Amino acid sequence: MTLDWLKPARRLGSLPPYVFARLDELKANARAEGVDLIDLGMGNPGGPTPAPVVEAAISAIGDESNHGYPPFEGTASFRTTITNWYHRRYGVTLDPESEALPLMGSKEGLGHIAMAYIDPGDVVLVPTPSYPAHFRGPAIAGADIRTIPLKAKNNWIIDFNDISAADANAAKVLYFNYPNNPTGAVAPRSFFEEMVAFAHRHQILLIHDLCYAELAFEGYQPTSLLEIPGAKDISVEFHTLSKTYNMAGWRVGFVVGNRHVIQGLRTLKTNLDYGIFSALQTAAETALNLPDHYLEEVQQRYLERRDFLAKELGTVGWNVVKPKATMYLWIPCPPGMGASDFALLLLQKTGVVVTPGTAFGEGGEGYVRISLIAKCDRLKEAVDRLRQANIRYSRVPTSV
Ligand SMILES: *Cc1c(COP(=O)(O)O)cnc(C)c1O
Repeated sequence: MTLDWLKPARRLGSLPPYVFARLDELKANARAEGVDLIDLGMGNPGGPTPAPVVEAAISAIGDESNHGYPPFEGTASFRTTITNWYHRRYGVTLDPESEALPLMGSKEGLGHIAMAYIDPGDVVLVPTPSYPAHFRGPAIAGADIRTIPLKAKNNWIIDFNDISAADANAAKVLYFNYPNNPTGAVAPRSFFEEMVAFAHRHQILLIHDLCYAELAFEGYQPTSLLEIPGAKDISVEFHTLSKTYNMAGWRVGFVVGNRHVIQGLRTLKTNLDYGIFSALQTAAETALNLPDHYLEEVQQRYLERRDFLAKELGTVGWNVVKPKATMYLWIPCPPGMGASDFALLLLQKTGVVVTPGTAFGEGGEGYVRISLIAKCDRLKEAVDRLRQANIRYSRVPTSV
């Protein structure tokens, strides 16, 4: 029996094509043929969750008071841990009752907030390139998405001159993210101040994704949007435990900021889910309270890989800009070559998997993103394979 009478909802049809699909297929084929893939495509941090967090989870799972439905709005204890953490790190004061909401991973919240605040046809400003949930959430909600091009010459920081007056006036919501995935860019405090002034002037809800706040190097301290006076009136900020604490599989994130906006998201979620398993909220508290040396070790790990890979890529002609934060290198494709062609070439000739920039929107054309999720010996192996296949920045075999 075919289901050709059953059409998916139009909102599914509004999603841009999934760039990873062809790459996934080729990856599966290569694996089946026994190719030793070096997968630097995903933003999935390798390595275990810190032992104290795992131990806290094990003991909390044994406690039967955690076995029922968790409270919709997250446990009071986790919410207080979140607001204490914000105060400690950014000097930002938040009310744990109304200005913090735990999420089943920040991606869920980034998508659901679009459903809570965007009606079909509402104008939403989204940078390109950007993390896919920043445009796929609004697309599902039926938004009229107007992209803001991020440019290398601006160090991938939004230039307000690139937003037309018409778009600024029409916009209801703007998503942004610094330290940035995929470009690795960071933005100065003055940029955040400009953004808050822009949002007040045009009455725009700001949605900032602070996912990489802890993965910063050499003393660089990222800015929280909420540090900026007046920001809380018009914004929310998302954060996650996935990257910093190697907890991607646990699905724990949170959003903080404007209480009315958080209330809207909470109302929507009350109708969709029950939030995070209470035992995992207890473990997440342990993560946020880990001593600073833990963070320093994580930062050191990514810093070493960043420097190592940048130097190695230099030996095959890539002049890599070292990011001040994040776990990514954003590297230009050889001249004249498109992002997916280059990613496919790398996969087929070397078994090295990178993400074509176009997975992050059309603004990612001409670049690929390399995740620093492998140890240095594997990163070395990856570059050795490029050298053997004679894939250099200035000279690339012409056929795929
Ligand atoms: C990885 C990532 C997330 C997703 O985090 P989860 O909490 O695991 O859903 C959100 N935003 C950006 C920019 C990311 O890179």
